[in-house]
Amino acid sequence: MLTGSCLCKGVAYEVDAVPGAIVHCHCETCRKTHGSAFSSVSSVPRDKFRWTRGKELLSSYESSSGKFRHFCSRCGSHIVAERTNRDTVLLRLGCLDTPILERPKLHMWRSESASWFDPKDQLPEFPEAPPLRVRHFEPRLGLFPVLPRRYIASCRAPKLALSFFLHISAAIGGLNFAPL
Ligand SMILES: [Zn+2]
Ligand SMILES: [Zn+2]
Repeated sequence: MLTGSCLCKGVAYEVDAVPGAIVHCHCETCRKTHGSAFSSVSSVPRDKFRWTRGKELLSSYESSSGKFRHFCSRCGSHIVAERTNRDTVLLRLGCLDTPILERPKLHMWRSESASWFDPKDQLPEFPEAPPLRVRHFEPRLGLFPVLPRRYIASCRAPKLALSFFLHISAAIGGLNFAPL
């Protein structure tokens, strides 16, 4: 059994089925809907799906003819989508609460991908939020492994010199310095 819920937990569902193939959809509609680079979805049979809580909180948006995207009107989470002419429901996997072993199979609608995202990019990972120093600093620049991006753009020598000084001092002082 799979269970899922929205951000405010007001809406919840159950599914008596294993998830279908997991795909990442990069289409513009999914990007706009979720405010992110892509939406991760998996289909399940409609007759195995049921709302268990908060159906009265649900709203839906018909993003294309016959395709309804259902979301919580209180917190805005997009929970499932469905096409009226199909007997499946598309689970928005970010709302799934059950841990699953299945892994995504493919990316689709890459022709409409965000310009700033490429799934082939290898990015550093952190178990939780990275230190602010890492988040706001430029990782690679010759002899100076970390430089504030805004100072690079400003070209103001005194400020840049101060930035170098502060950075090197922090690095020597061992203040959470972790070159990427
Ligand atoms: Zn909600
Ligand atoms: Zn899509």
